[in-house]
Amino acid sequence: MDNGTAMISVEGLSKWFGPFAALKDIDLKVDRGEKIVICGPSGSGKSTLVRCLNGLEDHQSGRITVAGLEVMNDRRRLEQVRLKVGMVFQNFNLFPQMTVLRNLTVGQTWILRKSQRDAEALAFEYLEKVRIPEQAHKYPSQLSGGQQQRVAIARSLCMQPEVMLFDEPTSALDPEMVKEVLGTMTELAGSGMTMVCVTHEMGFARQVADRIVFMDEGRIVEEAPPAQFFQAPRSRRAATFLKQVL
Ligand code: ADP
Ligand code: MG
Repeated sequence: MDNGTAMISVEGLSKWFGPFAALKDIDLKVDRGEKIVICGPSGSGKSTLVRCLNGLEDHQSGRITVAGLEVMNDRRRLEQVRLKVGMVFQNFNLFPQMTVLRNLTVGQTWILRKSQRDAEALAFEYLEKVRIPEQAHKYPSQLSGGQQQRVAIARSLCMQPEVMLFDEPTSALDPEMVKEVLGTMTELAGSGMTMVCVTHEMGFARQVADRIVFMDEGRIVEEAPPAQFFQAPRSRRAATFLKQVL
């Protein structure tokens, strides 16, 4: 198989939860540096798809390759894959008992075996990038939702992943905080990171995505550049969805 410059390659992916088919014959390629936005109605399989990409969900058929590694249900392999793939969730998932700084250094020292000093230096670099270096010594519960999500992004970046996955990173945030998180993501996109973002923020999608992937009922129904997708969706289901979110 020739992957060319593909950072992510998904071929014939299907996934069942018991008898229920959550993903049906998904094919998707994401090139190095490309930004993909995945959208679609609730329950269409968006989270399941991104969770399969870093092996948080096992899959029953098809083949997934990320950064040159096939994603397989093997502990050692999953560790290798997760080193290359950062993931940011709706609910931040920070370690509540650790300061912001510790949240950013713990993976670097324990998993990457870096010195505390080097880990802190990189942590501050990313806290500057997400514009909250002054929050380093606070605990997550002392921050706003938007700040916590920016810490979560910085924490992922500290592991220097090759791909970043986002699963509705702004949907748990108050409206005034959505913008600051999307701002961080837009800057990250500008840095050349490969990004797969599940989001209903269509302004972000229009501005940042190279391609929009629209899912419904476990399938990719449509895949198009934003200009085409927003102006003239090919499927009725996408048109209906856009009426609801725009
Ligand atoms: P989306 O993120 O697009 O809202 P999900 O990927 O979360 O959709 O879910 C796709 C479908 O799979 C839904 O019908 C959901 O109920 C089902 N599903 C997701 N996770 C599980 C699970 N752990 N067990 C059983 N069904 C699940
Ligand atoms: Mg979801």
